[in-house]
Amino acid sequence: MEILKGIGVSHGVAICSAVVLDAEEVRIPQRHVVPSKTEVEIQRLRKAFLDATQEVSNLRVSQSDQWDSRIKDIFAVHLHFLRDKTLRKKIDDLLAEKCYTAEYAVSFVMREIAQHFSNEKDAYISERANDIIDIEKRLLRHLLGEKRKDLKNLRDPVVVVGYDLSPTQTASFDKRYIKGFAIDAGGRTSHTAIVAKTLGIPAVVALGNISTLVTSGDTVIVDGTRGRVVINPDEETIAEYRAFAADILQASIELDVLKDMPAETLDGEIIELMANIEFPKEALTTLEKGGDGIGLYRTEFLYLDAPKEPEEETQYKVYVETLKNMGDKPVTFRTVDLGGDKFPRNIKMIREKNPYLGLRSIRYCLQHMDMFKTQIRALLRASVHGKTKIMFPLITNLMELRQAKWVVADVKEDLEEQGIPFDDNVEIGIMIETPAAALTADSLADEVDFFSIGTNDLIQYTLAVDRVNEKVASLYSPLHPAVLQLLRKIVKVAKRSRIDLSLCGEMASEPEFTPLLLGLGFDTLSLAAPMIPEIKQIIRSVSMEYCRDVARRALKFDTDTQTISYLREELRKIQKREI
Ligand code: PEP
Ligand code: MG
Repeated sequence: MEILKGIGVSHGVAICSAVVLDAEEVRIPQRHVVPSKTEVEIQRLRKAFLDATQEVSNLRVSQSDQWDSRIKDIFAVHLHFLRDKTLRKKIDDLLAEKCYTAEYAVSFVMREIAQHFSNEKDAYISERANDIIDIEKRLLRHLLGEKRKDLKNLRDPVVVVGYDLSPTQTASFDKRYIKGFAIDAGGRTSHTAIVAKTLGIPAVVALGNISTLVTSGDTVIVDGTRGRVVINPDEETIAEYRAFAADILQASIELDVLKDMPAETLDGEIIELMANIEFPKEALTTLEKGGDGIGLYRTEFLYLDAPKEPEEETQYKVYVETLKNMGDKPVTFRTVDLGGDKFPRNIKMIREKNPYLGLRSIRYCLQHMDMFKTQIRALLRASVHGKTKIMFPLITNLMELRQAKWVVADVKEDLEEQGIPFDDNVEIGIMIETPAAALTADSLADEVDFFSIGTNDLIQYTLAVDRVNEKVASLYSPLHPAVLQLLRKIVKVAKRSRIDLSLCGEMASEPEFTPLLLGLGFDTLSLAAPMIPEIKQIIRSVSMEYCRDVARRALKFDTDTQTISYLREELRKIQKREI
């Protein structure tokens, strides 16, 4: 039994057999098989070589008209290596001698040859190193292909273990079978973590090397509540975790009783609890969990897995469906926020060196006007079917906001000319998620109907800490005094300018932050729907007077460590009804 500590990003416990995913850029872990299984591995290897050879031959025949001679040469080289009997023998011998898995034997030999080639002075020979790596990847794809398919054809519950997962992969998980995941990489507010929370799948990220420690078929416990993973637990540990999982389930059933009750403090202040969603069907979860509306609809998720850029009509239908599901409750559509850690599978976007500081979000939209206008048109057309709000992400200056608003005005004009109805009073707001926007909030406030604070990005940009990089995850601190001062400033500006304000970053779904946020002056929070009941319960257990006191004290600490211990102690008192 082995216990690993990471960051728990989605609560709950899963105890299941593991499926380990490969990652092409990661070295295959050194794994062994029992001697009696080496023949099976050699057969797998033979098949992978045959399939890869067939694949390259087919490609050469079917596409040869479109290729220049250089590409044809590359495929000839690949075929040469795949048919090379000496190479095959070298891998077979290593596998038989050391009882390695087929994957490891391939990886070991191919990397050794690639290294040898790359040390050669002759440019032609050293370039062959890349061919060898390509062939290694192709062979591994064939060897690991069976496991990949496993995720689509699951019959039993599993937990997924891997190096990293993209938000799109996570979003496509079938909740009936995928009960949790544990990955080497990632941060607390990566979109993979956010999707896990929304789906209610227990998840732990930033585990360092779990993908090399677990083999498919091992029993794994994913404890998303405490950020722990247990590999091959003993019977006693399994029994303890079963009891813990039952307690969590019981607590969530009890919390669901709050569904129709208001999020009202003991002294009568009503707080609006909205949901963050990625897909239209989550509108129903929002209602089930008693949400007051949708405070953040991450519309870019429509683009991530789509075969091509979604057309106006496709978007229109999705937006109308969401609005209709929500009845008279508001839906805040955030315009497309691609880039950062969200790249569409089938729409070409250039991979930049520093994607969080590059052509991301509203910047991308303003440079891809056709795409942006299509979305605004679909949103405005949908606006007659419900309470629609439009929100622009990652605004850093007034000109960006004005440009985005001109697009809205332009599209409205077109619709008017064409006699297509829309709601002329759609509210327009922005996300405050950069220090630049926070510090110039006064002038931005004059030109919008509302602000929503995206603390996930605001924290990363204020502290210069990449939100998805596990190596600096301990520096990603929502309670850093600089972050708290920015929050306080934005609240003041919004109140003075009399515009609506909400907070839609992951901070809103952390129970220990709730009294602080209320005390700072937030009366609308937007969070993953499954977390709404828990946050509502805290709100119903505190008074505004108490919350203001908490905020006053929290703002006085010099370090985030002091603030977090203080807030944790206060949360303990709230839960024990000691305040
Ligand atoms: C944020 O940055 O806090 C936010 C809500 O937007 P996203 O997490 O999608 O970047
Ligand atoms: Mg953001």
